[in-house]
Amino acid sequence: KKSRAGGGSGFVGRELTRLLRSKGHEVTVISRQPGPGKITWGELESSGLPACEGAVNLAGENLMNPLRWWNESYKKDLFSSRIDTTKTLARAIAASPSPPRSWVLVSGVACYKPSLTAQYTEDSEWTPFDLLSKLVKEWEASALLPEDVAKTTKQVVIRPGVVLGRDGGAMKQMLLPFWLGLGGTLGSGNQPFPWIHVSDLAGIIAHTLEPPADTPSPSPQVFNGVAPALNTNYEFTKELGRVMRRPTIFPVPGFVINTLLGAERGMVLTQGQKVVPERTQESGYQYKYPDLTSALKEIVGS
Ligand code: NDP
Repeated sequence: KKSRAGGGSGFVGRELTRLLRSKGHEVTVISRQPGPGKITWGELESSGLPACEGAVNLAGENLMNPLRWWNESYKKDLFSSRIDTTKTLARAIAASPSPPRSWVLVSGVACYKPSLTAQYTEDSEWTPFDLLSKLVKEWEASALLPEDVAKTTKQVVIRPGVVLGRDGGAMKQMLLPFWLGLGGTLGSGNQPFPWIHVSDLAGIIAHTLEPPADTPSPSPQVFNGVAPALNTNYEFTKELGRVMRRPTIFPVPGFVINTLLGAERGMVLTQGQKVVPERTQESGYQYKYPDLTSALKEIVGS
């Protein structure tokens, strides 16, 4: 079977590509750069979507790039890199003479308002309340297929929490300070810390790419891409320190994070949401790393 993945060259995309290839699928990455096994976004627009069973979009300017100041041009790039690629892929699916059976967009849990108490499932109502939740709204809206195409192509949205894995994302930036014994809670530490192991995110994407058992519906099926364990930033910090055998006695004050990253993105670290993967579990997906200990042991030990 063939899949096309926008952003397939990234942290999550590499893991997904490995997983799909190990299951015998053929994967083409859609990228800004040409190369073997890749097509570019320009080629997708000019020549259309090559025949495939599934399409996934994972493209997006990195939100936690520590080298980029939080300014208007960065914010514009965060929006356009996600929304333009999603629109391009959705248009190519709609224009295809043989559209894929599944179309999966990976967005984020930033749509749910941070709270110490509220619990969010895929069915929770939400309205945008800040920049990142507006981004999720526009991003998910840009993935919608015309009604006639949605009759044959299953539309899926996966909303991951912080993706944990050795080769990228947040862990890549945290391992060194923790290893040096400089790790600590972020902000108060009481905030929920929705997370998922990268291997499970790839697993959930692959699971939703499977042929639909039910008839596709005009609105997408949403899956929360988080581990079932609900943890706080404090629990995450202490467990990472324990697994690495390092002290974690240096809390990073919220205002330092907000000053360095900008308050609008700093809140991703200093605040959080209790996200429950209700539909993901109902779908029969079996987590490889349902709890922090198993996930962090795999990451630190490998
Ligand atoms: P990466 O940062 O690894 O980037 C994925 C790919 O996006 C890159 O390989 C690149 O592909 C493409 N890309 C980067 N910048 C741009 C740009 N300006 N315009 C077009 N394409 C661009 O992402 P992850 O794999 O970590 O995440 C995948 C998706 O999941 C993203 O949309 C992200 O927002 C979302 N997500 C990630 C989380 C995480 O913790 N990692 C948490 C929640 C959501 P190329 O160079 O080949 O064009």
